[in-house]
Amino acid sequence: MLNVKRIREDFPQLKSGIIYFDNAASSLTPKPVIDKMLEYYIEYRANIERGLYESSQKASEEYEDARRIIANFIGAKSKEEIIFVKNATEGVNIIAHSINFKRNNKIVTTLLEHHSNLLPWIRCSELYGVKVEFIKPTIEGFLNLPDFEKAINDQTKIVAVTHVSNVLGVVSPVKEITEIAHKHGAMVLIDGAQSTPHIKIDVSKIGCDFFTFSGHKMCGPTGSGVLYVRKELMESLTPIYIGGGTIEAVDIGSYKLLKGPSKFEAGTPAIGEVLGLKVAAEYLKRIGLEKIEQHEKMLSKKIYNGLTKIPNVEVYGPKPEFKLGVTSFNIKNLSPHDLALILDSKAKIAVRSGLHCAHPLVKFILGKPQGTVRVSTYLYNTIEEVEKFLSIIEEVSRSIR
Ligand code: PMP
Repeated sequence: MLNVKRIREDFPQLKSGIIYFDNAASSLTPKPVIDKMLEYYIEYRANIERGLYESSQKASEEYEDARRIIANFIGAKSKEEIIFVKNATEGVNIIAHSINFKRNNKIVTTLLEHHSNLLPWIRCSELYGVKVEFIKPTIEGFLNLPDFEKAINDQTKIVAVTHVSNVLGVVSPVKEITEIAHKHGAMVLIDGAQSTPHIKIDVSKIGCDFFTFSGHKMCGPTGSGVLYVRKELMESLTPIYIGGGTIEAVDIGSYKLLKGPSKFEAGTPAIGEVLGLKVAAEYLKRIGLEKIEQHEKMLSKKIYNGLTKIPNVEVYGPKPEFKLGVTSFNIKNLSPHDLALILDSKAKIAVRSGLHCAHPLVKFILGKPQGTVRVSTYLYNTIEEVEKFLSIIEEVSRSIR
């Protein structure tokens, strides 16, 4: 069991009395992460991989140590598989433009995706003339493996799938999808933005080729993110940005790129943020991702069971046993934005309302053009907060009957 009372002391923002249920958008930041960034800015603020003086050496060592910690955090074989990016969106875009498509290639993705793992592939079809096929989830958000068997063929260059839906919280069968793709020689990118903060990730077990996530959803700073690239593929990719930090040698009119992740990290990176992300990963590991997952599933079940008992409430997505801590719902005849404002004004409850950057899923699969209200929990949320939330939903639902 998580010691939630103790954990809450690490998050200064909770002292304001906010009930923070918008964790799928971004998490709060614990004190050790803030302290690490301050340590960098106060004690050894310098650029990395350049200076021979002490503070630059120290910053460089800390930065490379972050690569090692993150590799270990997601089960990568080596730190040479970890590229630091600014967020998951950048991770997907880098891959979309670093693989060399041929005209008859095909991309397979799904209608469960966040726009960040959807629009870059549509753009590939515009730029490179490749075909994109979209697999439809069920109304609960399940992806069926036979649909992947049908869609993936020897022309398929890449399959791009979300690990956990940011709207429904449903977990996709990414290992099985990867196996199907690999039978046809297709590469696989997993969008881990909603899984990495909440469950133990092991990219080697999944077997995927690329995996990307954002630091700001996992107690880390904004502006920090990770793109994992399976070692064997690193040299086959052509980076979109090059410049300082990416080259082994430059002559007049020619250059030779470095091997490994540095060739993707052009220019000065977000050094303080990467160090903060390292501490966030250590923080979550110390608490235990299995325990975090259990805690969120317990809250998620309470939310689902509570909401489904309230008249006029529609809950979307699967039963709690098939999902993590994200629940989408509506009160009939009330706009999701109005309900979000009521929750904020009545009890400082922060939720997200609208289409959640997943228009195809919310508009066409769920059939909700106005969107939904989304409540998403994390390690610092309590049963009492859930009860407060449910009591307000009950009150609002009664008032509009
Ligand atoms: N994928 C999923 C599933 C997400 O939930 C999000 C963020 N809502 C993203 C990608 C994009 O993350 P970021 O904005 O940090 O790039």
